[in-house]
Amino acid sequence: MLSLLFPGAYAEDVFSIDYDGLYRRGYRAVIFDIDNTLVPHGADSTPRVDMLFARIQAAGLKTCLLSNNDEERVLRFCTNIDTSYVCDAEKPKKSGLQKALKLLKVKKEEAVLVGDQVFTDIFCANRCRVDSILVRFIGYYTETRIGPRRELEKLVLKAYALSRKYQSKLGDLVELLEK
Ligand SMILES: [Mg+2]
Repeated sequence: MLSLLFPGAYAEDVFSIDYDGLYRRGYRAVIFDIDNTLVPHGADSTPRVDMLFARIQAAGLKTCLLSNNDEERVLRFCTNIDTSYVCDAEKPKKSGLQKALKLLKVKKEEAVLVGDQVFTDIFCANRCRVDSILVRFIGYYTETRIGPRRELEKLVLKAYALSRKYQSKLGDLVELLEK
């Protein structure tokens, strides 16, 4: 079903998410994809990202990283971040996300997953009935060619934008599609 690929919300990037608002709405944990969500693929964290985690945790939310990448990469990323993590998560398989919920000690309704990919992050979240926020992927400026999977993602998001479900939840998806 196509709706299994639809995110709960869309944000331009991880910095524009209202984390205090998430807490007020009952969420207690944020689970992040790393590559192309927090930093470009394979890149180290930045002071801005490090500070973001501190800010999210100060808002009362626990954090976890959920990456299909290996432990070496994940540990390198969180050198200056105090967070739990699940590596080799094999998204969109459910097991990695279920492990993250266990580590965080939160119910699935209390968590939100933030990621850049419809076919791994969002699909995984929906399969586990965890709410999700899609962010625009961070690419290096030299990456000009859009892969076939990204084109397919655009089609999915277009279908989402046309669906009734979209209208009540998101306001800026159309903007994303025009980029
Ligand atoms: Mg990613």
